[in-house]
Amino acid sequence: MTARAEDFARLITLENGKALRDARGEVAYAAEFFRWYAEEAVRNLSDISTAPSGKNRILVLQQPVGVALLITPWNFPAAMATRKIGPALAAGCSVILKPASETPLTALAIASLLEEAGVPKGVVNVIPSARSSAIVPAILDDPRVGKLSFTGSTGVGRILLGNAAKTIVNCSMELGGNAPLIIFNDADLDTAVEGAMTAKMRNGGEACTAANRFFVEDGIADDFIRAFSQAMAGLKVGNGLDDGVELGPLVNRGARDDMEKLVEDALAHGGKLETGGTRPDQRGFFYNPTVISDPGADALLLQDEIFGPIAPIQRFDDLDDVIRRANDTEYGLISYVFTENLKKGLLVSERLQSGMVGLNRGVVSDPAAPFGGVKQSGLGREGAHDGMLEFLEKKYIAVSW
Ligand code: NAD
Repeated sequence: MTARAEDFARLITLENGKALRDARGEVAYAAEFFRWYAEEAVRNLSDISTAPSGKNRILVLQQPVGVALLITPWNFPAAMATRKIGPALAAGCSVILKPASETPLTALAIASLLEEAGVPKGVVNVIPSARSSAIVPAILDDPRVGKLSFTGSTGVGRILLGNAAKTIVNCSMELGGNAPLIIFNDADLDTAVEGAMTAKMRNGGEACTAANRFFVEDGIADDFIRAFSQAMAGLKVGNGLDDGVELGPLVNRGARDDMEKLVEDALAHGGKLETGGTRPDQRGFFYNPTVISDPGADALLLQDEIFGPIAPIQRFDDLDDVIRRANDTEYGLISYVFTENLKKGLLVSERLQSGMVGLNRGVVSDPAAPFGGVKQSGLGREGAHDGMLEFLEKKYIAVSW
């Protein structure tokens, strides 16, 4: 995958629209899951009791959970697939991958690469289909299927948990997010702007980890809004395949139209447009990077995932109040905190209701770290040793002689 990185990156950009620099980053990240889990595959995970009592022993084996159904979204068509295929193969499961109907080609390219690399036929199977709601329940009904690993929206995750209930299939769910990004007065302004740009604009804002609700403390708010808006306005928007482009189109017309509705609604709720709020003058589903300050708390873009290049900024002046507002969502995937006071940053991180926190960092994804959310953002973790355990089932053997 690393040797063919450029081919993969171009394919992702063609399918999904993201800027080539984002696609290259995704391929590097995606390939790391194969490297990491290839190494993890050789570790012995079984246990035997070390305090033998008489003729009894406790033996605990880790066995593959069975055929795994993997369902992935369109926003990271390579990385969301390898983050599941890597640990599933390392655990000894064969897989059926159902990619998003918007991005089937990257999934097929990964499967063909695996076949070329020597994975036996039938171990990795891809079903590219736009008829998920008919196909997926039929697969889940088959008793040979031992696992459903889903990444996508919370709404679809809820439907799939219902489908899985029939045969009580073991489920992992990586769902939506509504990430708060908190900047305290004692943050380093440059670090905060750079981190906020990454947290918001990685993948053009079409990410479950995208910062959705910015909370900036009064003393630094004006400076941050000025510097961040300038950085947003400076992004080069255009065809993802063109040199120097930093923001490609949204995934489809509906997604672009949603951006217009969210901005209109935020301005109607008292928000002030700092930059953007328009389509660039080119054909395609583009939307300019947009910053809106002080929208009212009822504005739609604060309620749910934005999934595009819009940053709503609110102010705060009290630590307990900002934690309460940050946690005031049904989601709990990730939060971001910027402060040079690491003690305060850690104490705040502990109180935030999310599976992950970026403390002075705008990106947290790492194959060696457990990725996942709490509340309605998911069940289970991907990446790291935890990701492998999702595809293993413990078997306890009580032995006597
Ligand atoms: P989606 O939920 O619409 O679709 C995800 C997958 O489910 C696709 O393969 C789709 O074809 C399939 N699907 C849709 N309806 C189905 C049904 N009724 N039965 C069976 N399968 C069905 O999500 P999306 O629009 O592709 O991706 C964006 C969403 O994914 C966002 O909510 C985002 O936050 C989330 N996401 C989460 C993570 C994470 O790790 N937590 C990572 C990336 C994306």
